[in-house]
Amino acid sequence: MGKRGREIVKLDVDELLELLNKAFADEWLAYYQYWIGAKVAVGPMRGAVVAELIEHAMEELKHAGMLTERIIQLGGTPLLKPSDWDKHTNCGYEAPSDPSVKKLIEQNIEAERCAIDVYNKLVEMTKDKDPITYHIVLEILEDEVEHEEDLQALHEDMMATKSMF
Ligand code: FE
Ligand code: FE
Ligand code: MG
Repeated sequence: MGKRGREIVKLDVDELLELLNKAFADEWLAYYQYWIGAKVAVGPMRGAVVAELIEHAMEELKHAGMLTERIIQLGGTPLLKPSDWDKHTNCGYEAPSDPSVKKLIEQNIEAERCAIDVYNKLVEMTKDKDPITYHIVLEILEDEVEHEEDLQALHEDMMATKSMF
C-alpha cells in the first residue's frame, strides 16, 4: 500500500487487517445464507420475504467488496479460500435446514444482530484513528441496522397475519 496512506493509520494495521478479514468472512457467509435461503424458502408471504432476502444478499456481497478493497489498500490479503470463511467468521453460518420463512427470518435476525455488534466495535475502534476504515464500517453498520429492522418488521407482519386467521 501507499507509504503515507499506511502511516496515517493510528492503529496496529496487522491487527486491523485481521478484524477486517473476519468481517469479510462474515459477509460471504451472510451473503450465502440469504441467497440460499431465498431459493429454498416456503410458507406465508413467501414473495415478500424472498424479495427482502435477495436484496439483503446483494448488500452483503457489496459489503464484502468494500472490505476487500480496504484490506488490499492497507497492504493485506483478503481470505482467498471459501474454507477460510468458516475459520475466521465472527457470526458463523446457519444452514436453512428448516426452510419455513419464519425460521429463515429468525436465523437472519440473529446474524444481523451479530453483524451490528461486529461493526459497532469496528466503528468505535477506528473512530479518530483511521478515518477511511471508519467511513466504510460506519456505512456497513447503517446497512446492518436497516437489515435487522426490515426482518423484524416482516416477522411482526407475519405474526399479525397469522393471528387474523
Ligand atoms: Fe453485511
Ligand atoms: Fe446484513
Ligand atoms: Mg432491506
